[in-house]
Amino acid sequence: MHELSIALGIIEIAEEESDRRGGVPVLAIHVKLGPLSGVVKEALTSAYELAREGSALADSRLVIEETPLIIRCARCEIEEAVPSVYDLCCPRCGTPSADVVCGRELEVTALEIEQ
Ligand SMILES: [Zn+2]
Repeated sequence: MHELSIALGIIEIAEEESDRRGGVPVLAIHVKLGPLSGVVKEALTSAYELAREGSALADSRLVIEETPLIIRCARCEIEEAVPSVYDLCCPRCGTPSADVVCGRELEVTALEIEQ
């Protein structure tokens, strides 16, 4: 399962950071998830709940922030949000664009660590 290995990777990052700080508990992990990341938010949430079992992060929360899908249109020279991953066309002129400015993210952006 794709999401499970991603969830395990996220936990690994958080555990390393916790260790570096002397084993302080991680309260929450914030991740950014783009519509083109290939990962579904609900699937990642349930994979995380599975992956954190028995780890040092068993009580931590996963906070997923979904990013918009934004493409750049070379013709209009604008960056514009598009509503669907299946329609990567400029909303103004309709030109297809593969120039994705925002939407491929799958990254840990912040950790909430107990002080
Ligand atoms: Zn355009």
